[in-house]
Amino acid sequence: MISIRHLSKTYHNPDGSPLTVLKDINCDIDKGEVISLIGPSGTGKSTLLRTLNLLDPPTGGEILFDGENILAKGYPVHKLRRKMGMVFQNFNLFDHMTVVENVMYAPVKILGKKKDEAREEAVALLRKVGLAEKADALPASLSGGQKQRVAIARCLAMHPEVILFDEPTSALDPTMVGEVLSVMRQLANEGMSMLIVTHEMKFARDVSTRIFFMYDGYIHEDGTPEQVFNAPRRSATKTFVQRIRKEVFEVDSDDFDYLGMETRINQFCIKYNIAGKKETAISLCQLLMPVFLETGNKLTIRTTYSELSEQATLDFMLEGAEASPLQSCDSMIRDSVISQCNGIVEEPTSRGFRVRLIL
Ligand code: ADP
Ligand code: MG
Repeated sequence: MISIRHLSKTYHNPDGSPLTVLKDINCDIDKGEVISLIGPSGTGKSTLLRTLNLLDPPTGGEILFDGENILAKGYPVHKLRRKMGMVFQNFNLFDHMTVVENVMYAPVKILGKKKDEAREEAVALLRKVGLAEKADALPASLSGGQKQRVAIARCLAMHPEVILFDEPTSALDPTMVGEVLSVMRQLANEGMSMLIVTHEMKFARDVSTRIFFMYDGYIHEDGTPEQVFNAPRRSATKTFVQRIRKEVFEVDSDDFDYLGMETRINQFCIKYNIAGKKETAISLCQLLMPVFLETGNKLTIRTTYSELSEQATLDFMLEGAEASPLQSCDSMIRDSVISQCNGIVEEPTSRGFRVRLIL
């Protein structure tokens, strides 16, 4: 469906120096494929989508869509707009139009559909994304997750051959990510061709037929989700997919903001889809903080989450300690900890001692 050859894009920095974001992009995308573009920020993922969509002209190279060179002089951009939909991070809905008007606008304006017909189809699409009852609402009254689902319905109303998504969930409150991903998952299951820039690794791994890891101006690695996530061939890919998400709390003073820590642990768990662990994490903190603080050593608490292994931990690090306070504390406390977590690792570190609880 899409062939990209030697695509490049150079921007200019404010001082006029060139910044080559896409150096040499080559790929073929078949109908029905769901491709996730992953990679550190600033590696040109959005730029690739924008050049594909002709929102931003590439500096060089070739893009064939259904065999036609869309970069050729005189290629009708409106034709591409019909075939290729785009969903943005910030929804880009028309604020002065109702939800249903947003969805029926392009079919009426661009495809020349009759209003009644377009409205009927728009309502059906809103039903599909779970928002039929919001048809007459204004976007301002919707949550971020609902707005993004309207944006997807609006895209579908044009019957595109492929939809590009640029971080569709990254502007959302963590509690609303799931509803948008589930609509996208449904589209993928129905065979919609999709190109998705995302930081949702679990989602990318579940729904994609292929993963492109973008790095240094190239598609640095390309493969099935199993290959890219479980057996990355290149070291930059490996570093990226195996990275660990962390949140660190230094419990070193009397005015330590305990409630602030609880809030951040809650948010951390929601963000990384481990909401089911948050009560446990907080209860373990409440139980163990006094035990660790009693030692008089400097305490740092850390939550970690590995997207790859989907493992979460709660770490207590005691600077200068030589043994685990869990060994010498009340056995009831130790038993309670054991019953609440999936494992304990107690080990010395270069700076002291660490007790790691597997959540
Ligand atoms: P990603 O989506 O992977 O985070 P982007 O494609 O947004 O990366 O950006 C890649 C690089 O290109 C960044 O360094 C960014 O600052 C730069 N860039 C993006 N758009 C422009 C622009 N319109 N003008 C100048 N530089 C840009
Ligand atoms: Mg981007």
